[in-house]
Order: sequence, then structure tokens, then C-alpha cells
Amino acid sequence: MTSTNEENLFDVIVLGGGPAGLTAGIYLSRAKIKTLVLNEGPAGGQMVLTHEIANYPGVESINGYQLSSIMKQQAQSFGCTVKANTKVTSMDLTGPEKLVEVRGKTTYRAKAVVLATGGRSRTIGAPGEDKFKGMGISYCATCDGDFFEGKDIIVVGGGNSALEEAVSLTKYASSVTVVHQFDHFQAFESAIAEAKENPQISFIMESEIQEFHGEKSLERVTIKNMGTDEMFDKNIDGVFILIGYVPSTERLEGIVKLNERNEIVTDQDMRTSLDGVFAAGDSREKRHRQVTTAVSDGTIAALSAIEYLNGLASDN
Ligand SMILES: Cc1cc2nc3c(=O)[nH]c(=O)nc-3n(C[C@H](O)[C@H](O)[C@H](O)COP(=O)(O)OP(=O)(O)OC[C@H]3O[C@@H](n4cnc5c(N)ncnc54)[C@H](O)[C@@H]3O)c2cc1C
Repeated sequence: MTSTNEENLFDVIVLGGGPAGLTAGIYLSRAKIKTLVLNEGPAGGQMVLTHEIANYPGVESINGYQLSSIMKQQAQSFGCTVKANTKVTSMDLTGPEKLVEVRGKTTYRAKAVVLATGGRSRTIGAPGEDKFKGMGISYCATCDGDFFEGKDIIVVGGGNSALEEAVSLTKYASSVTVVHQFDHFQAFESAIAEAKENPQISFIMESEIQEFHGEKSLERVTIKNMGTDEMFDKNIDGVFILIGYVPSTERLEGIVKLNERNEIVTDQDMRTSLDGVFAAGDSREKRHRQVTTAVSDGTIAALSAIEYLNGLASDN
């Protein structure tokens, strides 16, 4: 670990600046706890990828980027230091003093840490997927939808995100074909109904993409019916893969307890297996992943961290 100085000393370091981490930052800083939020991407996490958030209470509808900016500013207004687009290169969280090194240069120290590292899109893993990423294959309808104006596209997936984004993509694309591996969807009835009622959307059920083909950009996919094993090719301009996420916990392996899906195991107070280390948001073990649940986790993790710090103070 590289050397530190006083300005790199904090009470709490929050790893991750999505809604969970920023909420923890708001609660901690407002309680006059010296807090640093370190985020590897832009502040806001997955919210930045979300065109419209319509289920955040008190705000009828808001662009994800806007909500991210508001949360970040709110944390900063209470004195929270937010460093976005930075790279955490190593960490030592085992002792009473937690060390987090950034860009191999600066080491930040704190008495407690909140892990709010979120997750990222799951890939199919079919041949050609890597080659055509950004060249016809996307994982973010909000980011890339308008590149497909007047085109024919596929949405892979059968959850809420896939069906909601299939509907939103009809604003741009001429046709949207939803390809789903099962014979039923795992989405809210309202999302299923909206997709089914949209005349631009068709469905290929019980099927998976086996391969992506093209010269420079994606031109065609091979689809397999999982029931009959029948394979066929379909010409296509773009594929949006919206099949869930992988928790960003790779660098936490062997540090805190993870479950079989690599999600951080916590108790209901967001305590992890390590003393003084808390977790919040999509990176932890839970069933429902939303901005509201991330914000709830961030609140609880912050309050638990404050209790932990108070306990340390009364021990001394
Ligand atoms: C396309 C899309 C649409 C969605 N729409 C909605 C919606 O309408 N309503 C809703 O409620 N939810 C929606 N969600 C889900 C919601 O955005 C997530 O549940 C929520 O953002 C999770 O928050 P989080 O803070 O746990 O993690 P994230 O938002 O994933 O943020 C985690 C942050 O941590 C950073 N990070 C990762 N590893 C490290 C590390 N080691 N050190 C430091 N930083 C790290 C990441 O770069 C990221 O910025 C949507 C998600 C997507 C992808």
C-alpha cells in the first residue's frame, strides 16, 4: 500500500457511487461523519443508463442521469467527498483500520467501509458476441436505442427490463423481436401486457441466440428453439441483450463472505462477515433490485456504520 496523509483519512469510505453508495454518503455526511465515496464509473451507477425512472416515490418521472446528479449534489451539500471515474487498485479491510488504494498511488484510510459496488449486464457468451459489442450488440437500450432508427432489432430476455426496453425501443426501431429462453416471462403483468399489445413487437419463445454473424457489424443471428432443437438464421440490424446482471464483487472474493452467486452476504442491518464492513444495493444478496431498494440498503448501511463508529468511540 502506498503512503497516506491526513487529508486521506476518513471515518467511512463508501465503495460505489450508485444510489446505494450516494444514499449512504448523504446519511453519513449529514451525521457529520467524514465520508468518502469512491466510484469507478460516473456517479449514479446504473441509474446513469436509465432513460426514465418512473417508480421513484415523490418524483413522478425523472431521467436517471438527472436523479444521479441530484443525489450526488445532495451528498456533497452535507460535506461528503465524491470521487467518480476512479480506479480502486487494492484494499485491506480486515483490520480495525480499513485501507483502500486508488490508481496505485493514493491510499485512503477509514474506520469503516460500505461496499456498494452494484452490478453489470450479463452476457450470453455466444460466438461473435464480443466481436459485435458496440457494432450491433448493446446492453443498454437508453444509451444506444437511437442508433437503430428505422431498423429491425432483437431484444433478448424476458424480465421487466427486457420487456420495458422492448416497448421503449419501438420509438426508434421498425420492429422489435423479443427472444426469450422460456415459454413464459418473468416480468410484471403490466409489462407483459404492454409489450404484447404493441403491434411492432413480436416474440420468439423457448429460444436462444447461438451465434452472431456479420462482416464489420452485426448482420445475422442463429437462433435455436430449445424445445425442438431446430436452428434458423435471422437477418437483424441490432441485438439488445437485457438478461440481468452480475454483481461487481470479483475483488471482494476472499475478503467478505459471498454466496454461490457471488453476492455479498449481509444481515438485515447490512453487516457483512467483516467487522466494520457493511454492504448495500445490488451487489448484496437479495431478490429485488431497484433504485428504491438500493436507497433503502444505503440508509441502513449508513445507520449501522454510525452505530459501529459510536461503539468504537465508547470503547476508547
Ligand atoms: C437499463 C436499466 C434500467 C433500470 N431501470 C430502473 C427503474 O426504472 N427503476 C428502478 O428502480 N431501477 C431501475 N434499474 C435498476 C437500478 O438502476 C439498480 O437497481 C440500482 O442502480 C442499483 O444501485 P447500486 O447503488 O446498488 O449499484 P449501481 O447502480 O450498479 O452502482 C454501483 C457503482 O459502483 C461502481 N463500482 C463497482 N465496483 C467498484 C469498486 N470496486 N470500487 C468503487 N466503485 C465500484 C460502479 O462503477 C457503479 O457506478 C435499472 C437498471 C438498468 C441497467
